[in-house]
Amino acid sequence: RVQFPRECQLVVFGVGGVGKSALKLQFVQNHFMTTEYDPTVDEAYIKQCIIDDEVVRLNVNEEYGNMYRERLMRMGEGFLIVYSITSRASFGEISSFHQQILRVRDQAAFPVIVVANKCDLERERQGRKLAKRLGCIFIEASAKEHTNVDEVFTNLVREIRRLNKEQ
Ligand code: GDP
Repeated sequence: RVQFPRECQLVVFGVGGVGKSALKLQFVQNHFMTTEYDPTVDEAYIKQCIIDDEVVRLNVNEEYGNMYRERLMRMGEGFLIVYSITSRASFGEISSFHQQILRVRDQAAFPVIVVANKCDLERERQGRKLAKRLGCIFIEASAKEHTNVDEVFTNLVREIRRLNKEQ
């Protein structure tokens, strides 16, 4: 039986330098970028996966600047809010991305995963508490060392399915 995979639009948010591109490339292409990534190259980042026996084609979009922020927030079915455990400023922006998503979608809850990236550099425990308060799921990851990269996306897809089932 041919199974047509469901397409799923995911969007990666977070301030500059937290590792949005690195996570996306590590997940889709399985490598850690060593040269500067050019975000203006208009390439699709798609990965087809089987998550809990269901095929899904993940289209991973990323925000560059905040030009298309609202459009991306309207189009996404699930969001990654990435911060770096080495940057307090990036941690401070999590709530604001989350609020904006809920406002644009006019929802009280939406599938969002808070990603504490660069966990190879230090240990940080604050993110989990904040994510819990916001009603988001949480994960620590390292795009550099490929730690929890697949889990980021798998857990977010599970959250999308869980919340969509609840509605
Ligand atoms: P973006 O601006 O959010 O897309 O961030 P980039 O993906 O361009 O990453 C910014 C910098 O952080 C680059 O120098 C990356 O090599 C580095 N970086 C990204 N992820 C990690 C990680 O998990 N660990 C470490 N140590 N460095 C990372």
